[in-house]
Parts: sequence; C-alpha cells; structure tokens
Amino acid sequence: MSSAENYDHLLTFDGGEVDLIATYKGKRVAGKVVSGAMGLASPVWKKLLLGTPEPRAAEINAGDKAANPETTTKPIDCTDDDGEALLILLCISHLQFSDTPRKPKLILLFNIAVLCEKYDCHDLVRPWSSRWLKDLWPASRLFKVDHDRCLYIAWALGEQEYFKAISKDLVATVHLVGPDRKATNGRDYIDRGPMPDGIIESILQARTKTIQALLDLPYTYIERFKNGTSTVCKLKSESCDAIMYGSLLLQLGRIGLWPKKEAKDYTSSLLTLERCIRNLAPTSLPVIPGADGENHSDCKATCFRHYANEIMNRPADPKLECQRKHMQKRSKPKKTQYTSSKKVEEVEKESLIITLKVAPKPGTQVGSGA
Ligand SMILES: [Zn+2]
Repeated sequence: MSSAENYDHLLTFDGGEVDLIATYKGKRVAGKVVSGAMGLASPVWKKLLLGTPEPRAAEINAGDKAANPETTTKPIDCTDDDGEALLILLCISHLQFSDTPRKPKLILLFNIAVLCEKYDCHDLVRPWSSRWLKDLWPASRLFKVDHDRCLYIAWALGEQEYFKAISKDLVATVHLVGPDRKATNGRDYIDRGPMPDGIIESILQARTKTIQALLDLPYTYIERFKNGTSTVCKLKSESCDAIMYGSLLLQLGRIGLWPKKEAKDYTSSLLTLERCIRNLAPTSLPVIPGADGENHSDCKATCFRHYANEIMNRPADPKLECQRKHMQKRSKPKKTQYTSSKKVEEVEKESLIITLKVAPKPGTQVGSGA
C-alpha cells in the first residue's frame, strides 16, 4: 500500500495509547486514540475502554516497553462507521478544532448525527450544530431534497426549532406515490434511513388531518344548497342557486375532488390541495336566461382563500412527546465528567468515613455473637 493510500496518521493522535480501527475512504485504518479524551467524549467509548485492559499496565507487566499492545489490547472497533464523520468527532474530542468543517455537506452532517446517536456524544458538536443546520436547511427546503435527513439531524442534535420547521414543511409537501402509497417530498422517499421513532406516521397523520380540514371547506359549503331553501342567491332565485351549485361541483370535479374524496385517499401534497381550494370561484351568471332579468352579478359562493390560509397557518404539529423529550435532553449539555467524578469521589469519601466509623476494632468479630 502506498503512503498516499494509508490513512493511519489521520486517526493517530498525540499521546494516543489505545488502538482504534476504522474504515476511511473504503480502506481499513488503524489509529491510536487517547483513552481520557475518548472517555470524556462518549459514555459508550468509556464503557468499551473500561472493558479493555490498560495497555500501559500490560507493557509494565511484560517488563518490556517494546511489547506490542495489540497482542494484549482489543482495539476500539469503529469499522462500521462512516470514516469521515468519525474522524471529525475524534478530532473534536482530541481538541483538534481546526479540522472541524465550517459548512459540512448534508450527507456528512447526517453521518455525524448518526454517530452522535450511536455514541451518545452530542456535546462534541453542540457549538456547531445550529450553524450547520442554518446553512443547510434553507437550500434543502428550496430544492426539496433531503428533508428526511435534515429532520434526523435536527432530532439527533436537539435542534428543536429546526425540527419543528422541517417536520411542518414535510407535512405540507409530502405526497404519496405508487400502489404502496410511499411518502415522498418529490425527490426522495422519506423513509430512506434512520428516522425518529413514529415521526413518519405522525407526519402522515398531521397531513391527513389538515387535508380533511381543507376538503371540508367546499364540502360543508355544498350542504347549504341541499336544505331546500335558497340561502345563497341574494335575490332568492332557485335558478341562480342551481348555477352556483353546478359551478362549484364542476370546478371540484375538474380537480378530482368530486365525487367527494376522503382525506385518506388524497395523494397529492397539502400545498397542492390548498392551491386548488383557494382558487375555487363558483359564481352565477350576471343575467340568468329565462329568469326575470334581475342582476345576479353579486351572487357568488364564498371565497375559500381566507379559510384555507387559516388552516395552513396552523397545521397539526407532527412532533410526538417522545421526540420532544429526546430533543430537550440533547439540547442540554451533559454534566461534565469532572463534576460527576467529583461527586463520585465525594460519595466514595462518605462511604469511606462510614466504613471507618463502623469498622470493628482489630481482634473483635461483628455480629458473630460467639
Ligand atoms: Zn343570484
């Protein structure tokens, strides 16, 4: 392997005493990481390290500094992880901030979010996560790409405001395609990769609920023509009502909403439906042939634009309680290891004092009664 193809140096950090194996650009990489940095960064790595014999102790026991630690130490295995994302997390945990990207590509940020969830190391990227999303989300929204990945990133990194904005955008833009009615935002299916539990179902439920509210606008209005009295024509003309009624049904028929359609059967996006409903303009004729020449130019059914706007301005929130709790947890820094270990030390000290207080005098037996 030529030196150009060897990436070991990328994952080898100053003072690194623990082996770590990973996959970078499709190649297996063997690096050296600092156990203290790894333990501080992630409780998962800390647990792995605790289950790993101390290489330094192994060396001392062997009495030979040249002893190969690989023969006594199981390396941290990150070969299944995205190498580029892993490298960024390792650099941050080893205080090499200059390698932190200012504007990571969306797929890289997605892979970082996946690893943050896997290793519970969100604190590492907290200083950058909001700015990263601020750079990525507007373009993603504009070009209708990777909504699902943006949503996962916001969820994993505890960015609640972005999560709210992205999930609401998905409610408005998702439509269903194919015999299986798979949800897509036009470019991507939204169930491609890891997603917060229940969020797709929740997004689809919110979409159906809002679609039903929009459909109810014309469908409820139509009911007033069926009550047997002329309540729509200002001049109480049955002919005028019939024209308005027919006009509304014709317009609904043209956009596939008549005969009546149920929300669960509507496959286009909420935005498409909203545009259709707001453009409905059933009207009468100014002068109705065969009638008595009265002017019906002011007779028109209610415009649905205002009501459609109101519904779209308060769409159902697809966020679930479990997601709210998850993000709340992620958006707060964990207690520092320093504090934790200090507390542990204090508890240990107290235990020691109690132990000393109750420790039996030498030569006596406790509770034996003998
Ligand atoms: Zn009229």
